Amino acid sequence: MSWTVPEQIKLTMVHQMEIRQEPGLTRSSTRESWCLVRRPDHGELRAVLKCGRCGREGVFVIQDLATTKRLRRWPMARSLASAVVLIGIVAALWIIGFTDGDITLQVLAFPASLLFLPVGIYLLASPSSNIGVRPPESVYFKTDTVREGLSYVTRNSRRGEGLACSGNAKPAA
Ligand SMILES: [Zn+2]
Repeated sequence: MSWTVPEQIKLTMVHQMEIRQEPGLTRSSTRESWCLVRRPDHGELRAVLKCGRCGREGVFVIQDLATTKRLRRWPMARSLASAVVLIGIVAALWIIGFTDGDITLQVLAFPASLLFLPVGIYLLASPSSNIGVRPPESVYFKTDTVREGLSYVTRNSRRGEGLACSGNAKPAA
């Protein structure tokens, strides 16, 4: 998905209400509001989405296809170059290590493969997460964490406003 620029975008306002940490389990309760928008043909589109919990109006700024492609060019080039370097290092360790019988390079080849190959493959699969949308600023509220039995509960210290209100944008499925 991240090789292409999505035409349809899902905008979401996420209001996080509380986090409850139980032994071995973390529960987070949120209230989400979302809508679908189509990328503008030219220029930028300002889309407003209201949070269903606190009523805050989040402003998303969505760029057209040409601008988004331009924004993605440099991060994509950088990701692909990094992937080539990482995979190249691993390939060199294996090839030189085992054709020359160099025990040091052979020993390094295994951890290098485990560390670098997943990162390299990830960078090749999604070279840029930029979809040309600027989400609204996140708002954070004053919170307290209290112990309730075996759980720790984090919630707003005053009036049940919750922990945070933020917006995000994703390619529409
Ligand atoms: Zn909110």
